[in-house]
Amino acid sequence: MSHSSVQHPCVRDPRSLHGLLSLVIPCHNEESVIESTHARLIAVLPKAGMEFEIIYIDDGSRDKTLWRLEAIASKDPRVAILELARNFGQQAAMSAGLAHARGDAVVIIDADLQDPPEVIPEMVRLWQSGVDVAYGRRRSRDGETRFKLITASLFHRLFACLVPHPIPVDTGDFKLLDRAVVDAVCALPEKRRYLRGLVPWTGFRHEPVWYDRNARLAGVTKYNARRLLLLAADALIISSDVPMRLTWVASVSLGIVGLIAATTALISTNTATPTEASAGVSLAALVAVVGFLGAIQTAAVAIVGEYVVRTYREAQSRPTWVVRRTINVRQSPLQASDSRAA
Ligand code: UDP
Ligand code: MG
Repeated sequence: MSHSSVQHPCVRDPRSLHGLLSLVIPCHNEESVIESTHARLIAVLPKAGMEFEIIYIDDGSRDKTLWRLEAIASKDPRVAILELARNFGQQAAMSAGLAHARGDAVVIIDADLQDPPEVIPEMVRLWQSGVDVAYGRRRSRDGETRFKLITASLFHRLFACLVPHPIPVDTGDFKLLDRAVVDAVCALPEKRRYLRGLVPWTGFRHEPVWYDRNARLAGVTKYNARRLLLLAADALIISSDVPMRLTWVASVSLGIVGLIAATTALISTNTATPTEASAGVSLAALVAVVGFLGAIQTAAVAIVGEYVVRTYREAQSRPTWVVRRTINVRQSPLQASDSRAA
């Protein structure tokens, strides 16, 4: 049964009234593409049949991104800008945008036109039919390195195995969220956020909209191999406690292997005649086993350490982002982590 169909006839239903659509667009050093992106959005958004607002979040850009955004916003009151005080990262920038969005439905989309805005009206139609999360699912991905394609595919599948509410595979941040989903996500108290994990966690009804992902229109990716690895580690550790629990598996398996090895060594000591050669081999084996055990123990401590670091950061409770200035923003933030709201 669709969401709209369960509403009482007297209750205002923004899905059928075509309400307000918000766009949340994180931008970090996107001067070469931002004007083309805005022009494409302005051309396509009327096809969604809703009033709209576009919220650009300048995430500590060091180029002319902010300057170009200001020029756009000065001519169009539907365009709002959240200027963050420094580069807080894409997850924080998107969270800041969600917290300030007023829409009955909110679309998150990258600034580089990799996600075609032409898909948005299709997402809106799905939302109007009662779906709470219309997420973009990639049929193909242009302009990505082989390394990125393989690591992304492996990560998505690993994530699906480890996380109780996994993200649908081959998806990114491009999605439409119903107001109820935005409110639920913004109400979560955690500071360090991985939105691709948080949205499925809320459990709202979701459906894919298939699309072909393009190459970046201009500019370069902000994710080198190191940043991708950090994001993947963060995503897994924030969303799942399985890596920490794996240390149990490691310790039990090692205990069994150790028991078997000790029994075998005891039997062979009693039966074999030691020669210099076999003593050398035994010593090498011993060094290997000690080294192996040491590595496993260190890895286990390191994994637990990653959780401790994140627990410590959450306990510090610093805001997810800090706003330096806003332009045309009408919504006070929904999340207490905004520095001005604290
Ligand atoms: N982005 C951001 N802050 C960052 C890094 C990226 O706001 O620290 C934005 C960026 O401007 C873009 C989106 O996040 O709109 C996705 O970044 P990018 O295109 O570099 O990632 P990729 O598509 O290569 O994974
Ligand atoms: Mg991109």
